[in-house]
Amino acid sequence: MHEQTVVSIKDLRFATLRCPHCRTRVTLDLALSLGYQGRSASLAPDQCPRCGSALHSNVAPGLEHLQKAYALLAKLGNSVTFTANDEMSEDGTAPGDPPAKTP
Ligand SMILES: [Zn+2]
Repeated sequence: MHEQTVVSIKDLRFATLRCPHCRTRVTLDLALSLGYQGRSASLAPDQCPRCGSALHSNVAPGLEHLQKAYALLAKLGNSVTFTANDEMSEDGTAPGDPPAKTP
């Protein structure tokens, strides 16, 4: 039996970044439009606040898009939900996927 987790977008409030170099985690509150400490221009940092390593160039713009989507969709409450599969098979397919064909 496979369990699925359904959450509304308003419950997906926090996004966590992990620095690939020092593993520092930065948690961003999507409900705050200007949520990152010490910065006023954007939600997400473009470098690690601890070691200063540049984060992937997709991180900051991607999270800014996510924050904008959150701001729009969270107003709708439970009208938009996301479903996460709690179990994934070893080859990365979702439990509901048809079985892979073997040669
Ligand atoms: Zn770091």
